[in-house]
Amino acid sequence: MQHTDAIVIGAGQAGLAMSHCLSRRGIDHAVLDRGRVGERWRSERWDSLRLLTPNWMSRLPGWQYRGPDPDGYMTMPEVVRFLEGYARAGSAPVETGVTVHAVERAGDGYRVETDQGVRRARAVVVATGHCDVPMVPAMARDLPADIHQITPSRYRNPDSLPDGGVLVVGASATGVQLAEELHRSGRPVTLSVGRHTRLPRLHRGRDIMWWMDRIGVLDERADRARDLGRARAQPSLQLVGHPDRRTIDLAALHDQGVRVVGRTAGVDGGRITLCDDLAETTAAAQATMDRLLARIDAFAGPSKTEGVRPIALPPSPSALDLRAEGIRSVVWATGFRRDYGWLKVPVLDAAGEVIHHGGVTPSPGLYVLGLRFLRRRKSNFIDGVGADAEELAEDILGHLAKHGLAKHGLAKHSYVAA
Ligand SMILES: Cc1cc2nc3c(=O)[nH]c(=O)nc-3n(C[C@H](O)[C@H](O)[C@H](O)COP(=O)(O)OP(=O)(O)OC[C@H]3O[C@@H](n4cnc5c(N)ncnc54)[C@H](O)[C@@H]3O)c2cc1C
Repeated sequence: MQHTDAIVIGAGQAGLAMSHCLSRRGIDHAVLDRGRVGERWRSERWDSLRLLTPNWMSRLPGWQYRGPDPDGYMTMPEVVRFLEGYARAGSAPVETGVTVHAVERAGDGYRVETDQGVRRARAVVVATGHCDVPMVPAMARDLPADIHQITPSRYRNPDSLPDGGVLVVGASATGVQLAEELHRSGRPVTLSVGRHTRLPRLHRGRDIMWWMDRIGVLDERADRARDLGRARAQPSLQLVGHPDRRTIDLAALHDQGVRVVGRTAGVDGGRITLCDDLAETTAAAQATMDRLLARIDAFAGPSKTEGVRPIALPPSPSALDLRAEGIRSVVWATGFRRDYGWLKVPVLDAAGEVIHHGGVTPSPGLYVLGLRFLRRRKSNFIDGVGADAEELAEDILGHLAKHGLAKHGLAKHSYVAA
């Protein structure tokens, strides 16, 4: 049985950032991934996707974008190269093709069961991703068998779908991108809109992420949030990283010919019922956006730039008859959940989410990293996970020091807890 001081599960940006921070502290560890480095960006994203965060926001501890286009948006192969370069530069001890089947408490540490054997570690960091498993509502089961259903993790390009009309459910970053791409491929597209976070790509001539970074909104701390549960449940940003830096919002999609309708409420055979909430959800998104833009304007000072006009959309129908409308496919762009079925330690709440305080779980030596608003608003962004990893690595160092240093790491490198 192999022993290390720490095991990190997942070799995405979170696992690699943690590995860097552990290495810097001389903590002996292994990073296990069932796939390859950055596997999600390779096999669970669609062909045309680019990051919605500009390149200068690809910053991790000891590694950052240094290319010629800081304001551009990386393609998926570029993201993979960025992460591979990070792993290589730090000689991260990544073991690919190792699936963790179970983690359980054993003595003063953990027993990690993998498809390549059993490991032991004093500390375990779960970095398996906030966007783990696509969330598909239970009503999807009631759709007729001849309606093709797909999640964004499996969608690659319009050829992924049979001919005919498409209903895209969900209008955050993913839903609006796929609705536009499918519409441009010549299909009739209906976009069902629930709660969303509207943002212009550019404000006062600058990328909106630049402003959000500048005014500190992305650095807002979880421990100071007024309502952390609400902040964590906020819909993701409705932003697209297109090279022409255009804003793709509901108004733009409506103008292009996408039919925008209310939230999907239920499925009754081939009939989809819709909520009469389009005016309400667009007004709520407008109000949230206006508050952010006002904050930016207060920070930046007077400007002649007008705000972003409210969206005027035709009223939504109350139902869609899929066959009559020629809709042959439904894309569930309804967010993600996490599957911790393999985590056999009593740290899961009734919803199956890990209970933690800033990534520290109630089980000593067990940590989680990369979740939304873990320690700060940007925790699940490439640009945010590094600061969390640095802080959490200090906690891990403290934990290992308190429980006696393991044979490999700390003694060898003579780092001490700060
Ligand atoms: C469509 C989409 C677009 C996004 N765009 C941006 C963006 O523009 N900018 C930005 O900053 N963020 C973006 N994000 C958010 C975030 O950066 C990504 O979700 C990112 O992949 C999170 O990295 P991570 O390391 O936390 O987790 P992941 O990248 O999900 O990595 C987790 C790793 O764990 C492995 N794993 C899982 N379970 C096991 C197991 N049991 N055993 C072994 N290995 C396991 C997986 O193979 C995977 O490699 C986007 C997310 C999505 C879904």
